[in-house]
Amino acid sequence: MPAFWTEPDFDEHELVHLVHDRASGLTAIIALHSTHLGPGAGGTRFWHYADPAGAMRDALRLSRGMSYKNAMAGLPMGGGKAVVLLDREGRKTPEMLAAFGDAVQALGGRYVTAEDVGASVADMVAIARRTPHVCGLPAEEGDAGGDPGPFTAMGIFLGLKAAVAHRLGTDSLKGVRVAVQGCGSVGGGVARLLAGEGAVLTLADIDAERARTLAAELGAEAVESDDIMSTPCDVFSPNALGAVLDADGIARLDCAIVAGGANNQLARRGDGALLAERGILYAPDYVINAGGIINVSLEYLCRQHNQPCDLDEVRARIAQIPDRLQAIWRESDETGERSDLVADRMAQKLIGRG
Ligand code: NAD
Repeated sequence: MPAFWTEPDFDEHELVHLVHDRASGLTAIIALHSTHLGPGAGGTRFWHYADPAGAMRDALRLSRGMSYKNAMAGLPMGGGKAVVLLDREGRKTPEMLAAFGDAVQALGGRYVTAEDVGASVADMVAIARRTPHVCGLPAEEGDAGGDPGPFTAMGIFLGLKAAVAHRLGTDSLKGVRVAVQGCGSVGGGVARLLAGEGAVLTLADIDAERARTLAAELGAEAVESDDIMSTPCDVFSPNALGAVLDADGIARLDCAIVAGGANNQLARRGDGALLAERGILYAPDYVINAGGIINVSLEYLCRQHNQPCDLDEVRARIAQIPDRLQAIWRESDETGERSDLVADRMAQKLIGRG
């Protein structure tokens, strides 16, 4: 594995912490990109990486994305992310979770963790036995906290509506064709909200049965996962993996708008230019998918200050996502600069790197 500071994704990260606990077998990387605005907040990804360099890349890229996401969401939080390197079988034990909790605690609150791919609310409860610097814990009815997925979906739904208004000039989603890639926690939630407003949906998931079941529930069409990116539609909504917007993927798109929740949708920074050349309106991923971190960050901050945290505050902050997107698109329209670069510049300024 090359030194992390020679990685193209190294971006003056403040701390990259390698954790190895021999007793439990835990190997993890905790990356803090920026704590300019507050403690680095971002979830922990539990994943089997065939090549450990992929884990380092994920930690570097995802933690930078969290700096940008938290800043653009107006949260007093910096950017951090952890990856736990699982074995081929994806074995995750209580001992590993305890050791990971100790590693988070050792950073003394500079890093605050939460759920990401491969992590559950129960995992956060296990980690919370070793450290208070964790969120996404079970919430009482009406309180912030718990699974961030539905809150992420809510923000994407509102952001997607704003994109439709901006590009298609209509406030209604009735008859607007949306192709949804990924029908999990986020994609499934987005699809349900869209169906509720009369959008015409095409759904796909590598778990084909999951897509078919949701399509049957919503009166939508299900297609093979290989076909979703070339489905003719008004909006392509990526809610599965990152890096789907590479040269090949962008060439296949048959849409006017890309608006979805997957992190790191652009495979490379330059790929935003390919979207722009095709005249496709792009909703920067870390702006539109901030609903979940808004929810769990408010949960964390309220707990730290021993204050109640009701969901209305979470909803009010998620409702600001469309305004942020509109500000980006307005500036992009006025200056001709791509929306992903406008957003990056705004975020960098907020974290003191402008
Ligand atoms: P999830 O695991 O619940 O759902 C992901 C779904 O995508 C699964 O159903 C999976 O089978 C499907 N999938 C995987 N590869 C696919 C492919 N190539 N084509 C089609 N479907 C595929 O995960 P999630 O929580 O819904 O997260 C989805 C994305 O959103 C991830 O990129 C995640 O990083 C991002 N995200 C999630 C949150 C959150 O609050 N959960 C917040 C911000 C960003």
